Amino acid sequence: MQLSPPDAPAPDVVPASEHGIPRERIHRNARQVLERLVEGGFEAYLVGGCVRDLLLGRVPKDFDVATSARPEEVRDLFPRSRLIGRRFRLAHVRAGRDVYEVATFRASHDAAATGPDGMLLHDNVYGTREEDALRRDFTVNALYYDDRDGSILDFTGGFPDLDAGVIRSIGDPGVRYREDPVRILRAVRFAAKLGFRIEPSSEAPIHELAPLLEGVPAARLFEEILKLFQGGHALESLRGLDRYDLLPLLCPATAVSADRDPSVRTLLERAFENTDRRLAGDRPVSPGFLVAALLWGPVRERADAAQTEDGVRSRGVALAEAADETIAIQAKRTSMPRRFTAMARDIWTMQPRLENRRPRRVAATIAHPRFRAAYDFLCLRGEAGEPVAERAAWWTAAQGDPGEKDPDESPPQVPRRRRRRRSQRRGRAA
Ligand code: ATP
Ligand code: MG
Repeated sequence: MQLSPPDAPAPDVVPASEHGIPRERIHRNARQVLERLVEGGFEAYLVGGCVRDLLLGRVPKDFDVATSARPEEVRDLFPRSRLIGRRFRLAHVRAGRDVYEVATFRASHDAAATGPDGMLLHDNVYGTREEDALRRDFTVNALYYDDRDGSILDFTGGFPDLDAGVIRSIGDPGVRYREDPVRILRAVRFAAKLGFRIEPSSEAPIHELAPLLEGVPAARLFEEILKLFQGGHALESLRGLDRYDLLPLLCPATAVSADRDPSVRTLLERAFENTDRRLAGDRPVSPGFLVAALLWGPVRERADAAQTEDGVRSRGVALAEAADETIAIQAKRTSMPRRFTAMARDIWTMQPRLENRRPRRVAATIAHPRFRAAYDFLCLRGEAGEPVAERAAWWTAAQGDPGEKDPDESPPQVPRRRRRRRSQRRGRAA
C-alpha cells in the first residue's frame, strides 16, 4: 500500500555514534555540496546507493544528493551546474573533479500519473523528504545521511533490512513493479551485488509481473543490462536472472540457444567471470565485448543454419548475415548503441580468420585493431568447449608476449618460429 503524506512515518534517526560511518569516508566535495545547500536555506541529504554502500563498508560508486531546493534554485547556488534529465529534471553539480546528481525531493505519483497497466508515465511531482523516501524502490536505498550531525534518517525500515541482508520493496511490491517493471531487475541486481536475498513478499509477484518488462523502452533496458553485467557482479546477476527466469525477457534468442546448447551458457558464465575479475582489478571492460558474448549463441546457430540449409559457402558471409539479423532482433528488446554492435560484429566475423588452420598474413591479423578482442573471444569459445582451444593456443603463441593477458592464466608456450615472425614484424615497423 502506498502511504499518503499524512500517514508518512516519522523517521528513525540513527545517530553517527551508532551507524559507524566515519566522516572521512564521505567525499569532501560531497559534503561541500550539502553544506552550500543547507547554507542556502534548504534541506539536503546524501541518499540512495552511497549511504547503503557506506553502511556496508563498501566504496560508493557515486554520491547522490536529495534536497528541498528546486532544480533552478540548485543551479543558482552552484555556478558549475547544469540541469539535465529526460525522465525527471536533476541538477548536475560539479565540485572539484566530481559531478554530483542533485535531485529535488519528489512525491509519489497520483492516479493521473499512471497508464492503464499501472506504469508510471511521469515522476516529476515535487514533494517532501518523507514523500521522497516513499517513492524510492527498496528500503535499503531510502536512507538519508544528514551531514549537519552525521545522523541517518530511516523512513522505511531500511536500516534493519540492511543488517538482515534483505531487499524489500517500499509499499506494495506488485504496485511498485507495475509502476516501473525495471525495479524487478534492480531487485535482482542489488541482491547479486550485495549478496542479499529478496524478501518473500517482494519476490512473490516477480514471476507474474516480469512480462511487463516487454513494455519498457528498449534503450532503458539496455542501460539496465549494462548495469547487470558490467557492475562487477555479472555472474551472480545471471544466477539471479535465472532464479526468476528473466533472461528470456531480456535476450530471448540467447535464452533459447542456451537451452539447446550448454556451451552457450558456459561461454556466458566464463565471459562474466572474466568481466567481474577485470572490474575487481580496476581494468576496463567493453560493452561491445559483452554484446558479442551475449548474442554469440544465436549468431552461431543462424550462421550454422545458413551454411547447412541455405548452402551459404563462406563462414564469414554466414556470420556477417547472422550478425545483422540477430542484432536487429535483439535491438527490438534492448536498443544497443551502434558502436557496441559494430564491435560485436567485428569480433564475430573475425572468428573464421582465427580458426583457419593455415592462417595467412599472421602479422597483419595481429596488428588488426580488433584482433585483441577477437582473440580473447576465441579463447572464451575454447574455454566454453567449442573446438577452437587449440587455435586459441596457437594465436597465444603467435603473439609471443600476450601483453595484458590475465596474470592468472597459464603462460603461453612460444615456438621459436613465431618469435622470429614477431621480431620480423617489429623490424618492418621500425
Ligand atoms: P548503484 O548506483 O550502486 O547502482 P543506486 O541505489 O545508487 O545503486 P541508482 O540507479 O543510482 O541506484 O539510483 C539512486 C537512487 O534512486 C536509488 O538508491 C533509489 O533510491 C532511487 N531509484 C533509482 N531508480 C529507481 C526506480 N526505478 N524506482 C524507484 N526509485 C529509484
Ligand atoms: Mg547511484
